[in-house]
Amino acid sequence: MRAYGSVGGTPRFVSRAAGAHVTDVAGRSYVDLVCSWGPALLGHAHPEVVAAVQEAASRGLSFGAPTHGETELAEAIVARLDVGGRRALERVRLVSTGTEATMTAIRLARGATDRPLVVKFAGHYHGHSDGLLAEAGSGVATQGLPGSAGIPAEVAAQTLVLPYNDLGAVDAAFAAHPGRIAAVITEAAGANAGVLRPRDGFNAALAARTREHGALLILDEVLTGFRVGPAGWWGREAAGLEGGEGATSWTPDLVTFGKVVGGGMPLAAIGGRRDVMELLAPLGPVYQAGTLSGNPLAVAAGLATLRLADDAVYARVDAASGAVQAGLADAFAALGHPVTISRAGSLFSLAFRDGVVRDYDDARDQDGWRYRAFFASMLEQGISLPPSVFEAWFLSAAHDDATIDTILAALPRAARAAVE
Ligand code: PLP
Repeated sequence: MRAYGSVGGTPRFVSRAAGAHVTDVAGRSYVDLVCSWGPALLGHAHPEVVAAVQEAASRGLSFGAPTHGETELAEAIVARLDVGGRRALERVRLVSTGTEATMTAIRLARGATDRPLVVKFAGHYHGHSDGLLAEAGSGVATQGLPGSAGIPAEVAAQTLVLPYNDLGAVDAAFAAHPGRIAAVITEAAGANAGVLRPRDGFNAALAARTREHGALLILDEVLTGFRVGPAGWWGREAAGLEGGEGATSWTPDLVTFGKVVGGGMPLAAIGGRRDVMELLAPLGPVYQAGTLSGNPLAVAAGLATLRLADDAVYARVDAASGAVQAGLADAFAALGHPVTISRAGSLFSLAFRDGVVRDYDDARDQDGWRYRAFFASMLEQGISLPPSVFEAWFLSAAHDDATIDTILAALPRAARAAVE
Protein backbone atom coordinates (compact mmCIF):
# COMPACT_ATOMS: atom_id res chain seq x y z
CA MET A 1 0.00 0.00 0.00
CA ARG A 2 2.87 2.34 0.76
CA ALA A 3 4.88 1.32 -2.29
CA TYR A 4 4.91 3.63 -5.30
CA GLY A 5 4.98 0.65 -7.67
CA SER A 6 1.90 1.68 -9.62
CA VAL A 7 2.64 5.42 -9.66
CA GLY A 8 6.41 5.40 -10.05
CA GLY A 9 9.13 6.96 -7.95
CA THR A 10 10.12 6.41 -4.35
CA PRO A 11 7.72 6.72 -1.43
CA ARG A 12 8.24 9.78 0.71
CA PHE A 13 9.76 8.79 4.05
CA VAL A 14 7.80 10.72 6.63
CA SER A 15 9.39 12.23 9.71
CA ARG A 16 6.36 13.89 11.28
CA ALA A 17 2.73 14.78 10.77
CA ALA A 18 0.36 17.32 12.26
CA GLY A 19 -3.21 18.23 11.36
CA ALA A 20 -3.73 17.85 7.61
CA HIS A 21 -0.02 17.75 6.76
CA VAL A 22 2.83 15.25 6.65
CA THR A 23 6.47 16.27 6.48
CA ASP A 24 9.08 14.09 4.81
CA VAL A 25 12.64 13.51 5.94
CA ALA A 26 13.84 16.17 3.52
CA GLY A 27 11.68 18.70 5.35
CA ARG A 28 9.05 19.11 2.62
CA SER A 29 5.48 19.36 3.81
CA TYR A 30 2.49 17.89 1.95
CA VAL A 31 -1.24 18.13 2.34
CA ASP A 32 -2.11 14.56 3.26
CA LEU A 33 -5.04 12.76 1.65
CA VAL A 34 -4.06 9.36 2.99
CA CYS A 35 -4.59 10.08 6.71
CA SER A 36 -2.75 6.89 7.67
CA TRP A 37 -5.24 5.00 5.45
CA GLY A 38 -8.15 6.17 7.55
CA PRO A 39 -7.37 6.46 11.25
CA ALA A 40 -6.53 10.18 11.28
CA LEU A 41 -10.16 11.35 11.29
CA LEU A 42 -9.28 14.29 13.54
CA GLY A 43 -6.07 15.03 11.64
CA HIS A 44 -2.61 13.91 12.65
CA ALA A 45 -1.31 14.25 16.19
CA HIS A 46 -4.42 15.86 17.65
CA PRO A 47 -3.10 17.41 20.89
CA GLU A 48 -5.75 15.79 23.08
CA VAL A 49 -5.15 12.36 21.61
CA VAL A 50 -1.39 12.72 21.98
CA ALA A 51 -1.82 13.90 25.58
CA ALA A 52 -4.06 10.91 26.35
CA VAL A 53 -1.43 8.53 24.99
CA GLN A 54 1.36 10.27 26.91
CA GLU A 55 -0.63 10.09 30.12
CA ALA A 56 -1.34 6.39 29.54
CA ALA A 57 2.32 5.73 28.74
CA SER A 58 3.37 7.27 32.02
CA ARG A 59 1.36 4.52 33.77
CA GLY A 60 2.87 1.60 31.87
CA LEU A 61 2.98 0.37 28.28
CA SER A 62 1.23 -2.98 28.52
CA PHE A 63 -0.08 -5.06 31.39
CA GLY A 64 -1.42 -8.32 29.97
CA ALA A 65 -4.35 -7.88 32.34
CA PRO A 66 -7.79 -6.28 32.07
CA THR A 67 -8.15 -2.51 32.42
CA HIS A 68 -11.12 -0.21 32.93
CA GLY A 69 -10.13 1.60 29.74
CA GLU A 70 -10.88 -1.49 27.64
CA THR A 71 -14.35 -1.76 29.12
CA GLU A 72 -14.95 1.94 28.62
CA LEU A 73 -13.92 1.71 24.98
CA ALA A 74 -16.08 -1.36 24.41
CA GLU A 75 -19.02 0.50 25.96
CA ALA A 76 -18.36 3.54 23.77
CA ILE A 77 -18.40 1.32 20.67
CA VAL A 78 -21.64 -0.37 21.72
CA ALA A 79 -23.25 2.99 22.53
CA ARG A 80 -22.32 4.42 19.13
CA LEU A 81 -23.93 1.52 17.32
CA ASP A 82 -27.24 2.23 18.97
CA VAL A 83 -29.23 4.16 16.40
CA GLY A 84 -32.72 5.15 17.41
CA GLY A 85 -32.78 2.38 20.02
CA ARG A 86 -31.66 -0.31 17.55
CA ARG A 87 -28.40 -1.84 18.69
CA ALA A 88 -26.01 -3.66 16.39
CA LEU A 89 -23.73 -4.90 19.16
CA GLU A 90 -24.12 -6.61 22.50
CA ARG A 91 -20.54 -7.71 23.15
CA VAL A 92 -17.16 -6.40 21.99
CA ARG A 93 -13.64 -7.77 22.05
CA LEU A 94 -10.57 -5.66 21.38
CA VAL A 95 -7.74 -6.88 19.16
CA SER A 96 -4.80 -5.10 17.56
CA THR A 97 -5.46 -5.09 13.80
CA GLY A 98 -8.33 -5.24 11.37
CA THR A 99 -6.87 -8.48 10.05
CA GLU A 100 -7.28 -10.10 13.45
CA ALA A 101 -10.81 -8.77 13.77
CA THR A 102 -12.01 -10.27 10.48
CA MET A 103 -10.05 -13.49 11.02
CA THR A 104 -11.70 -13.91 14.40
CA ALA A 105 -15.12 -13.10 12.96
CA ILE A 106 -14.70 -15.89 10.41
CA ARG A 107 -13.59 -18.37 13.07
CA LEU A 108 -16.55 -17.38 15.24
CA ALA A 109 -18.97 -17.82 12.37
CA ARG A 110 -17.59 -21.27 11.65
CA GLY A 111 -17.71 -22.14 15.33
CA ALA A 112 -21.30 -20.92 15.62
CA THR A 113 -22.59 -22.71 12.55
CA ASP A 114 -20.27 -25.71 12.28
CA ARG A 115 -19.98 -24.99 8.57
CA PRO A 116 -16.80 -24.56 6.51
CA LEU A 117 -17.41 -22.07 3.69
CA VAL A 118 -17.19 -18.29 3.64
CA VAL A 119 -18.51 -15.93 0.97
CA LYS A 120 -16.55 -12.77 0.19
CA PHE A 121 -16.84 -10.25 -2.60
CA ALA A 122 -14.28 -9.58 -5.31
CA GLY A 123 -12.42 -6.34 -4.71
CA HIS A 124 -13.19 -6.30 -1.00
CA TYR A 125 -10.22 -6.31 1.34
CA HIS A 126 -10.53 -7.78 4.81
CA GLY A 127 -6.88 -7.91 5.83
CA HIS A 128 -4.26 -10.50 5.07
CA SER A 129 -5.44 -13.72 6.70
CA ASP A 130 -5.13 -16.72 4.37
CA GLY A 131 -8.79 -17.29 3.61
CA LEU A 132 -9.58 -13.66 2.78
CA LEU A 133 -6.92 -12.75 0.24
CA ALA A 134 -8.69 -14.09 -2.86
CA GLU A 135 -9.42 -11.26 -5.31
CA ALA A 136 -8.77 -8.85 -2.48
CA GLY A 137 -8.67 -5.14 -3.21
CA SER A 138 -6.16 -2.67 -1.75
CA GLY A 139 -2.49 -3.58 -2.29
CA VAL A 140 -3.43 -6.93 -3.85
CA ALA A 141 -5.42 -5.08 -6.52
CA THR A 142 -2.73 -2.44 -7.00
CA GLN A 143 -0.18 -5.14 -7.70
CA GLY A 144 -2.58 -6.93 -10.06
CA LEU A 145 -2.47 -10.18 -8.08
CA PRO A 146 -5.33 -12.73 -8.03
CA GLY A 147 -4.48 -13.50 -4.41
CA SER A 148 -1.32 -14.42 -2.56
CA ALA A 149 1.25 -17.18 -2.87
CA GLY A 150 1.63 -19.31 0.21
CA ILE A 151 -2.03 -20.19 0.60
CA PRO A 152 -2.80 -23.90 0.08
CA ALA A 153 -5.50 -24.63 -2.49
CA GLU A 154 -7.46 -26.46 0.20
CA VAL A 155 -7.61 -23.25 2.26
CA ALA A 156 -8.48 -21.03 -0.71
CA ALA A 157 -11.29 -23.47 -1.66
CA GLN A 158 -13.09 -22.62 1.58
CA THR A 159 -13.70 -19.07 0.31
CA LEU A 160 -16.29 -18.44 -2.39
CA VAL A 161 -15.58 -15.16 -4.18
CA LEU A 162 -18.63 -13.49 -5.71
CA PRO A 163 -19.14 -10.30 -7.71
CA TYR A 164 -20.11 -7.41 -5.43
CA ASN A 165 -23.60 -5.97 -5.55
CA ASP A 166 -24.90 -9.14 -7.22
CA LEU A 167 -27.65 -10.70 -5.12
CA GLY A 168 -28.28 -13.34 -7.77
CA ALA A 169 -24.74 -14.63 -7.25
CA VAL A 170 -25.35 -14.82 -3.49
CA ASP A 171 -28.55 -16.78 -4.02
CA ALA A 172 -26.78 -19.12 -6.43
CA ALA A 173 -23.98 -19.73 -3.91
CA PHE A 174 -26.47 -20.65 -1.16
CA ALA A 175 -28.29 -22.92 -3.59
CA ALA A 176 -25.07 -24.61 -4.72
CA HIS A 177 -23.75 -25.18 -1.17
CA PRO A 178 -26.76 -25.94 1.00
CA GLY A 179 -25.96 -25.97 4.72
CA ARG A 180 -22.25 -25.32 4.10
CA ILE A 181 -21.87 -21.53 4.13
CA ALA A 182 -20.92 -20.22 7.58
CA ALA A 183 -20.87 -16.53 6.75
CA VAL A 184 -21.00 -13.79 4.19
CA ILE A 185 -18.40 -11.13 4.88
CA THR A 186 -18.78 -7.76 3.19
CA GLU A 187 -17.27 -4.34 3.51
CA ALA A 188 -20.11 -2.17 4.79
CA ALA A 189 -19.39 0.00 1.77
CA GLY A 190 -16.58 -1.17 -0.48
CA ALA A 191 -13.58 1.13 -0.36
CA ASN A 192 -10.60 -1.00 -1.30
CA ALA A 193 -10.99 -1.21 -5.08
CA GLY A 194 -11.75 2.44 -5.22
CA VAL A 195 -15.08 3.14 -3.59
CA LEU A 196 -17.70 0.50 -4.45
CA ARG A 197 -20.94 1.77 -3.09
CA PRO A 198 -23.46 -0.91 -2.09
CA ARG A 199 -26.62 -0.83 -4.16
CA ASP A 200 -29.59 0.38 -2.17
CA GLY A 201 -30.94 -2.58 -0.23
CA PHE A 202 -27.91 -4.80 -0.85
CA ASN A 203 -26.71 -4.95 2.75
CA ALA A 204 -30.27 -5.43 4.02
CA ALA A 205 -30.75 -8.27 1.53
CA LEU A 206 -27.52 -9.92 2.65
CA ALA A 207 -28.79 -9.79 6.24
CA ALA A 208 -32.06 -11.42 5.17
CA ARG A 209 -30.40 -14.09 3.00
CA THR A 210 -27.85 -15.11 5.62
CA ARG A 211 -30.58 -15.41 8.26
CA GLU A 212 -32.78 -17.45 5.92
CA HIS A 213 -29.92 -19.88 5.26
CA GLY A 214 -28.63 -20.16 8.82
CA ALA A 215 -25.40 -18.30 8.05
CA LEU A 216 -24.01 -15.16 9.68
CA LEU A 217 -23.51 -11.72 8.17
CA ILE A 218 -20.13 -10.19 9.03
CA LEU A 219 -20.11 -6.49 8.33
CA ASP A 220 -16.56 -5.24 7.93
CA GLU A 221 -16.46 -1.63 9.12
CA VAL A 222 -12.69 -1.54 9.63
CA LEU A 223 -12.45 1.26 7.09
CA THR A 224 -15.90 2.85 7.26
CA GLY A 225 -16.48 2.49 11.03
CA PHE A 226 -16.52 5.84 12.85
CA ARG A 227 -15.20 7.46 9.66
CA VAL A 228 -18.29 7.91 7.48
CA GLY A 229 -20.39 8.84 10.49
CA PRO A 230 -20.65 8.39 14.26
CA ALA A 231 -22.01 4.85 13.83
CA GLY A 232 -20.20 3.98 10.60
CA TRP A 233 -21.89 2.90 7.38
CA TRP A 234 -24.39 0.72 9.24
CA GLY A 235 -25.34 3.81 11.24
CA ARG A 236 -25.96 5.73 8.04
CA GLU A 237 -28.28 3.00 6.80
CA ALA A 238 -29.92 2.58 10.21
CA ALA A 239 -30.62 6.32 10.26
CA GLY A 240 -32.13 6.14 6.77
CA LEU A 241 -29.39 8.29 5.19
CA GLU A 242 -28.29 5.52 2.83
CA GLY A 243 -29.42 2.15 1.62
CA GLY A 244 -32.94 2.85 0.37
CA GLU A 245 -35.98 0.95 1.55
CA GLY A 246 -35.42 -1.61 4.27
CA ALA A 247 -32.15 0.01 5.29
CA THR A 248 -33.46 0.97 8.69
CA SER A 249 -34.48 -2.52 9.70
CA TRP A 250 -31.49 -4.82 9.42
CA THR A 251 -28.64 -5.63 11.77
CA PRO A 252 -25.47 -7.61 11.11
CA ASP A 253 -24.52 -10.59 13.28
CA LEU A 254 -20.88 -9.53 13.69
CA VAL A 255 -19.15 -6.24 12.98
CA THR A 256 -15.42 -5.58 12.68
CA PHE A 257 -13.72 -2.26 13.40
CA GLY A 258 -10.21 -0.87 13.07
CA LYS A 259 -8.46 2.31 11.97
CA VAL A 260 -10.40 5.25 13.55
CA VAL A 261 -11.31 3.19 16.62
CA GLY A 262 -7.62 3.14 17.58
CA GLY A 263 -7.03 6.81 16.81
CA GLY A 264 -3.75 6.02 15.02
CA MET A 265 -2.57 3.32 17.41
CA PRO A 266 -2.77 -0.44 16.73
CA LEU A 267 -6.27 -1.31 17.88
CA ALA A 268 -9.25 -3.01 16.31
CA ALA A 269 -12.39 -4.68 17.56
CA ILE A 270 -15.00 -7.27 16.83
CA GLY A 271 -18.51 -7.04 18.18
CA GLY A 272 -21.91 -8.51 17.67
CA ARG A 273 -24.66 -10.72 18.96
CA ARG A 274 -24.20 -11.87 22.50
CA ASP A 275 -24.89 -15.55 21.79
CA VAL A 276 -22.26 -15.59 19.05
CA MET A 277 -19.67 -13.44 20.85
CA GLU A 278 -19.95 -15.59 23.96
CA LEU A 279 -18.63 -18.51 21.96
CA LEU A 280 -15.24 -16.80 22.21
CA ALA A 281 -12.78 -18.21 24.75
CA PRO A 282 -12.70 -18.18 27.72
CA LEU A 283 -16.52 -18.34 27.87
CA GLY A 284 -16.78 -20.54 24.80
CA PRO A 285 -14.76 -22.91 22.64
CA VAL A 286 -13.65 -20.52 19.84
CA TYR A 287 -10.11 -19.49 20.67
CA GLN A 288 -8.77 -15.98 20.33
CA ALA A 289 -6.09 -14.11 22.24
CA GLY A 290 -3.45 -11.42 21.78
CA THR A 291 -0.49 -10.36 23.93
CA LEU A 292 -1.08 -6.68 23.14
CA SER A 293 -4.88 -6.77 22.76
CA GLY A 294 -6.51 -3.82 24.48
CA ASN A 295 -3.11 -2.16 24.81
CA PRO A 296 -3.54 0.77 27.22
CA LEU A 297 -1.90 3.37 24.94
CA ALA A 298 -4.04 2.28 22.00
CA VAL A 299 -7.15 2.27 24.17
CA ALA A 300 -6.35 5.80 25.37
CA ALA A 301 -5.97 6.99 21.76
CA GLY A 302 -9.21 5.30 20.75
CA LEU A 303 -11.19 6.67 23.67
CA ALA A 304 -9.91 10.20 23.10
CA THR A 305 -10.65 9.96 19.38
CA LEU A 306 -14.21 8.71 19.85
CA ARG A 307 -14.82 11.35 22.52
CA LEU A 308 -13.67 14.11 20.16
CA ALA A 309 -15.37 12.75 17.02
CA ASP A 310 -18.65 14.60 17.44
CA ASP A 311 -21.21 15.72 14.87
CA ALA A 312 -19.17 18.83 14.08
CA VAL A 313 -16.17 16.67 13.16
CA TYR A 314 -18.24 14.56 10.77
CA ALA A 315 -19.83 17.68 9.28
CA ARG A 316 -16.36 19.15 8.67
CA VAL A 317 -15.05 15.96 7.07
CA ASP A 318 -18.16 15.73 4.88
CA ALA A 319 -17.81 19.36 3.79
CA ALA A 320 -14.10 19.01 3.04
CA SER A 321 -14.73 15.82 1.10
CA GLY A 322 -17.59 17.39 -0.86
CA ALA A 323 -15.42 20.37 -1.82
CA VAL A 324 -12.59 18.17 -3.08
CA GLN A 325 -15.00 15.94 -5.02
CA ALA A 326 -16.54 19.00 -6.67
CA GLY A 327 -13.09 20.38 -7.54
CA LEU A 328 -12.08 17.04 -9.00
CA ALA A 329 -15.21 16.80 -11.12
CA ASP A 330 -14.77 20.40 -12.34
CA ALA A 331 -11.12 19.89 -13.24
CA PHE A 332 -11.90 17.00 -15.58
CA ALA A 333 -15.16 18.48 -16.87
CA ALA A 334 -13.21 21.57 -17.95
CA LEU A 335 -11.09 19.30 -20.11
CA GLY A 336 -14.09 17.36 -21.43
CA HIS A 337 -12.54 14.16 -20.12
CA PRO A 338 -14.90 11.58 -18.59
CA VAL A 339 -14.08 10.36 -15.10
CA THR A 340 -16.23 8.81 -12.42
CA ILE A 341 -16.12 9.81 -8.80
CA SER A 342 -17.49 7.03 -6.60
CA ARG A 343 -18.77 8.07 -3.20
CA ALA A 344 -19.74 6.45 0.07
CA GLY A 345 -20.28 9.08 2.72
CA SER A 346 -17.10 11.15 2.94
CA LEU A 347 -15.09 8.41 1.22
CA PHE A 348 -14.54 8.78 -2.50
CA SER A 349 -12.27 7.68 -5.28
CA LEU A 350 -11.50 8.65 -8.84
CA ALA A 351 -11.86 6.26 -11.77
CA PHE A 352 -10.68 7.06 -15.29
CA ARG A 353 -13.83 5.78 -17.00
CA ASP A 354 -17.33 6.77 -17.85
CA GLY A 355 -20.19 5.24 -15.87
CA VAL A 356 -20.87 3.94 -12.42
CA VAL A 357 -18.36 1.66 -10.71
CA ARG A 358 -20.33 -1.09 -8.99
CA ASP A 359 -17.93 -4.00 -8.74
CA TYR A 360 -14.33 -5.10 -9.12
CA ASP A 361 -14.66 -5.68 -12.87
CA ASP A 362 -15.89 -2.10 -13.32
CA ALA A 363 -13.05 -0.80 -11.13
CA ARG A 364 -10.46 -2.56 -13.27
CA ASP A 365 -12.14 -1.47 -16.50
CA GLN A 366 -10.59 2.00 -16.60
CA ASP A 367 -7.56 3.87 -17.90
CA GLY A 368 -5.89 3.43 -14.53
CA TRP A 369 -2.49 4.24 -16.04
CA ARG A 370 -3.57 7.88 -16.19
CA TYR A 371 -3.43 8.05 -12.41
CA ARG A 372 0.37 7.93 -12.51
CA ALA A 373 0.70 11.39 -14.07
CA PHE A 374 -2.14 12.75 -11.96
CA PHE A 375 -0.52 11.50 -8.76
CA ALA A 376 2.91 12.83 -9.74
CA SER A 377 1.54 16.27 -10.52
CA MET A 378 -0.33 16.47 -7.22
CA LEU A 379 2.76 15.34 -5.31
CA GLU A 380 4.87 17.88 -7.11
CA GLN A 381 2.34 20.53 -6.08
CA GLY A 382 2.56 19.42 -2.45
CA ILE A 383 -0.45 17.11 -2.18
CA SER A 384 0.09 13.51 -1.10
CA LEU A 385 -2.57 11.18 -2.55
CA PRO A 386 -2.94 7.44 -2.03
CA PRO A 387 -0.37 5.91 -4.41
CA SER A 388 -2.96 3.75 -6.19
CA VAL A 389 -6.08 4.41 -8.23
CA PHE A 390 -7.69 1.54 -6.26
CA GLU A 391 -7.59 3.38 -2.94
CA ALA A 392 -10.09 5.82 -1.48
CA TRP A 393 -9.04 9.36 -0.57
CA PHE A 394 -9.19 10.27 3.10
CA LEU A 395 -9.92 13.66 4.59
CA SER A 396 -9.95 14.80 8.18
CA ALA A 397 -11.48 17.46 10.37
CA ALA A 398 -8.12 19.25 10.18
CA HIS A 399 -8.54 19.85 6.43
CA ASP A 400 -9.64 23.45 6.87
CA ASP A 401 -10.69 25.87 4.14
CA ALA A 402 -7.14 27.02 3.43
CA THR A 403 -5.99 23.43 3.01
CA ILE A 404 -8.92 22.64 0.73
CA ASP A 405 -8.06 25.71 -1.37
CA THR A 406 -4.52 24.38 -1.79
CA ILE A 407 -5.93 21.07 -3.04
CA LEU A 408 -8.42 22.77 -5.37
CA ALA A 409 -5.69 24.95 -6.85
CA ALA A 410 -3.60 21.89 -7.70
CA LEU A 411 -6.33 19.81 -9.36
CA PRO A 412 -6.57 21.48 -12.80
CA ARG A 413 -2.87 21.02 -13.57
CA ALA A 414 -2.94 17.42 -12.35
CA ALA A 415 -6.03 16.71 -14.48
CA ARG A 416 -4.25 18.11 -17.53
CA ALA A 417 -1.24 15.92 -16.83
CA ALA A 418 -3.54 12.88 -16.60
CA VAL A 419 -5.33 13.39 -19.91
CA GLU A 420 -2.40 14.56 -22.03
N1 PLP B 1 -10.95 -4.64 6.53
C1 PLP B 1 -10.98 -3.53 5.77
C2 PLP B 1 -12.28 -3.11 5.15
C3 PLP B 1 -9.83 -2.78 5.56
O1 PLP B 1 -9.87 -1.69 4.79
C4 PLP B 1 -8.62 -3.21 6.16
C5 PLP B 1 -7.36 -2.45 5.96
O2 PLP B 1 -7.23 -1.62 5.11
C6 PLP B 1 -8.63 -4.36 6.94
C7 PLP B 1 -9.81 -5.06 7.12
C8 PLP B 1 -7.38 -4.86 7.61
O3 PLP B 1 -7.01 -4.04 8.64
P1 PLP B 1 -5.48 -4.00 9.14
O4 PLP B 1 -4.68 -3.36 8.05
O5 PLP B 1 -5.54 -3.18 10.41
O6 PLP B 1 -5.07 -5.41 9.41
